[in-house]
Amino acid sequence: MASLEIAKLGNPVLRKKAEPVPQGEIDTPAFQQFIDDMFETMVEAEGIGLAAPQVSRSQQVVVMDLPGEGGFPKTVLINPKIVFYGPQQVDNWEGCLSVDGLRGKVTRPSMVRVQGLDRYGAPVDFEATGLFGVCIQHELDHLIGKVFLDRMTEFSSLTQLEEFDRFWKQEDAAVI
Ligand code: ZN
Repeated sequence: MASLEIAKLGNPVLRKKAEPVPQGEIDTPAFQQFIDDMFETMVEAEGIGLAAPQVSRSQQVVVMDLPGEGGFPKTVLINPKIVFYGPQQVDNWEGCLSVDGLRGKVTRPSMVRVQGLDRYGAPVDFEATGLFGVCIQHELDHLIGKVFLDRMTEFSSLTQLEEFDRFWKQEDAAVI
């Protein structure tokens, strides 16, 4: 396994629309290795999700994992699509491995239904709420060239990390 370099805000790859992964590529050793490398990179950077464009590969792949209570299962989504958004909106603190040192509150639907393929190319179709739902929406945004800052409707909550730790730490932030 190898950890990969994370593309930071300003890198054009973060603003491109990612290409779908051809079905025939999914079970190749190189692609499976890439998924393992994405997980390693995400864990090393202390994130709970990572999208392929964040490691300069413009393909529709995201990995997510948050072990423990209140977390969610280790998940790979290939060529994912959100097919339904729940009617309720919730505010959550978000951060991003591609946006150093900033946290901000983003309002998003509290529930999504997502369809796509798992790491072996098998179809998946499930609903997600809470932090998992937030993480899925944040990661899928990366696949269309968007970051969480684009989803903020106003910026009064935008906070530098040190001040977040000082004033807002009791509210969990999703760093994805
Ligand atoms: Zn992100």
